[in-house]
Amino acid sequence: MKKYTLQTEFAMYESPEDLPEADRALLFLAKKSLENAYAPYSNFKVGAAVLLDNGEMLGGTNYENASYPLCICAEQTVLTTAANRFPNLPALAIAVTVKNPKLVIDRPGPPCGACRQVICETEMKNRQSIRVILQGETGPVYVFESGKDLLPLAFDGSYL
Ligand code: ZN
Repeated sequence: MKKYTLQTEFAMYESPEDLPEADRALLFLAKKSLENAYAPYSNFKVGAAVLLDNGEMLGGTNYENASYPLCICAEQTVLTTAANRFPNLPALAIAVTVKNPKLVIDRPGPPCGACRQVICETEMKNRQSIRVILQGETGPVYVFESGKDLLPLAFDGSYL
């Protein structure tokens, strides 16, 4: 028997002001997108924004449903919107932020497992890694160079 250790690496910025300009702009769009979140049941709002290879940025939000399992995450909203509107343009980065009216979230709200899988699928489809930029309502910003850094041993099409 052999044991292995999986490691991941990310950059932490004390605040959005410290980010490179393109990342800051993308995070700002994610925060602005929070206004459009449809979250009448949980009131937990998630905003996301995708940067495409031509510089275009698209924002999106979570979209809840009274039938709870049908809730759609913001990350999946923006990635599928981007893939449909600009099918030949790889996504270069995704920014995600969260807002909870009951408490100030001062640490990054990480994408759920399903969204990590969708980010990895998009990377595989486009043969392009996606920077993942995460911030809570306040606090530090985490930047991962790839969805794979958030989901080691991701399932992929090579098994099918
Ligand atoms: Zn999710």
